[in-house]
Amino acid sequence: MANSKYEYVKKFEVDDKLPPHNWIVLRIDGCHFHRFSADHMFEKPNDENALNLMNICAVTMLEHFPDIVFAYGVSDEYSFILKETTEFYQRRASKILSLGVSYFTSVYVMKWKDFFPHKELREPPSFDGRVICYPRAKIVRDYLAWRQVDCHINNQYNTCFWMLVKSGKTEREAQESLKGTLAKDKNELLFQQFSVNYDKLPAMFRKGSCVYVDKVEETVKLDDSGNPVKRLRKKVTVGHFDIIGPKFWNEHPYILEEE
Ligand code: ATP
Ligand code: ATP
Ligand code: MG
Ligand code: MG
Repeated sequence: MANSKYEYVKKFEVDDKLPPHNWIVLRIDGCHFHRFSADHMFEKPNDENALNLMNICAVTMLEHFPDIVFAYGVSDEYSFILKETTEFYQRRASKILSLGVSYFTSVYVMKWKDFFPHKELREPPSFDGRVICYPRAKIVRDYLAWRQVDCHINNQYNTCFWMLVKSGKTEREAQESLKGTLAKDKNELLFQQFSVNYDKLPAMFRKGSCVYVDKVEETVKLDDSGNPVKRLRKKVTVGHFDIIGPKFWNEHPYILEEE
């Protein structure tokens, strides 16, 4: 029986359970980070501390929320993959989305001073988020490849853009001289004008960051004969791998294993 005459208002809520047997992707993205990062808040084109802060937030997400099997981050965005069978909050989209985004944002603010001890936050950072369902691991891999290709295209452009600006061009001039250039033209420009070999730039800038639970073997003790007793331990790991090709996935088949 209803406990008050007002309880009927509950009936207006909609069921937003995500379909079963689908991988759930939660992608968050910094709101107006172009402005947030401006005026020397972040180094350009890639502020290493800002990226490391994002990575720590993602690691904390994997430690805090059950069933996140993989996360991929670049710039001001992070994608979290929840396994297909998750029953986290009965798969309710609004719960997964709101908890994920608010938790990430809180950690970002809490850890800010560890990464930027000499910079006060000028405005409260916020993130938007969305959830997407993919029925096959193959599509999840294509999703991640799409994000990594985007990382590559943007990073190559931004690297050229900021090199040109730092060498004295205005932002408009830099933009003009990059118009219509292909990937190989940009690599050539970096090499010819700035002696920069794009492939030698830090992998975190070029490839983005992957966070996942790795199974590492560790020695827990020595037995009576002095031989090491080993055990597999789960460890949240950050790496900067190519996730477009099959190598990483062949080496970590359990991450996107379908039941
Ligand atoms: P929106 O609110 O639509 O997401 P936005 O300004 O956040 O707008 P994005 O397309 O998300 O635009 O791009 C993020 C911007 O944040 C980048 O273009 C870059 O200027 C800045 N940025 C994010 N991370 C870094 C970083 N680690 N180093 C330098 N700049 C960064
Ligand atoms: P859920 O995660 O499902 O929301 P919950 O523990 O947050 O679980 P709520 O029904 O939201 O449960 O209730 C919030 C609880 O937080 C209250 O029961 C109370 O114990 C505590 N609480 C919230 N605000 C106050 C406050 N101002 N003073 C004291 N206790 C508070
Ligand atoms: Mg953004
Ligand atoms: Mg972005």
